[in-house]
Amino acid sequence: MRIRSFDKGKAILFLVATPIGNLADMTFRAVEVLKNADKIYAEDTRNSLVLLKHYNISSKLESYHEFNQELKSEQILNELKSGMKLAIISDAGLPVISDPGFKLVQMAIENDIAVSTIPGASAGISALIASGLAPMPYTFYGFLDAKASKRKQELEELKYVSHTLIFYEAPHRIEDTLADLLAIFGNRQIVLARELTKTFEEYARGTIEEIQSILPLKGEMVLLVDGCKEEIILDDPCKKIDELIALGYKPNEAIKEVAKAMHTNKNELYQTYLLYKNKK
Ligand code: SAM
Repeated sequence: MRIRSFDKGKAILFLVATPIGNLADMTFRAVEVLKNADKIYAEDTRNSLVLLKHYNISSKLESYHEFNQELKSEQILNELKSGMKLAIISDAGLPVISDPGFKLVQMAIENDIAVSTIPGASAGISALIASGLAPMPYTFYGFLDAKASKRKQELEELKYVSHTLIFYEAPHRIEDTLADLLAIFGNRQIVLARELTKTFEEYARGTIEEIQSILPLKGEMVLLVDGCKEEIILDDPCKKIDELIALGYKPNEAIKEVAKAMHTNKNELYQTYLLYKNKK
């Protein structure tokens, strides 16, 4: 299905990036789109008013957040169907990324309505490029579960992923998360990117234990974790295959991935894996 974004007179849902701390990180285009929007839906209207006032944006503003999205979705769809140009913003960064908006995107697409992104800051990818950890491939995970048991299970599923991992984390949970991370991943290299774009911006780089020694740390933070290295996979390739299958890979895809990481023949690895499974 193809939908052109900018057909004249047609409805459109704009997903507009806003700054993650420094008000100056607003693009000219974001200001223009918000000024011309028939209505702006914001996660927290009080927060957004500060930004909108700063840029003299006086478009109509209404709330759209986690707790009223079911209720508001129908209204928003009807507005779009009537030809309105709507903009979605969140408290910081890109809407939809660990923020509300995904349901609206799906709903708009299902109804053949154009969705367009107005790019700008996002904490995860901004932290990644300055972290010094491999920028590609990466896995953006967002927030781990707040419940300890679920969080540990999530980390177990991620421990053999070779990509750099990006997590959002709250300052009051970072101690527990690092303790779980150390227990499950071992003492990997990590980066805590804090207060990005603000006066007290800081990157703390080191092993998990080194970063634990400087806690507590306040402020908004992104936690980046070095990917699983080949040596770890080599120690236990069959376990790694099982891990990937648990993540949703088909067995032959999982074997192919691990073989690639080990620079080994996938048919040989398949035989090893069969033996391992038969022994179990
Ligand atoms: N939509 C946002 C984005 O595109 O980055 C993320 C919103 S999420 C609700 C908020 C989390 O993003 C924070 O808990 C923190 O982990 C991260 N974050 C947001 N602003 C940040 C900043 N200035 N410095 C570090 N992390 C930040």
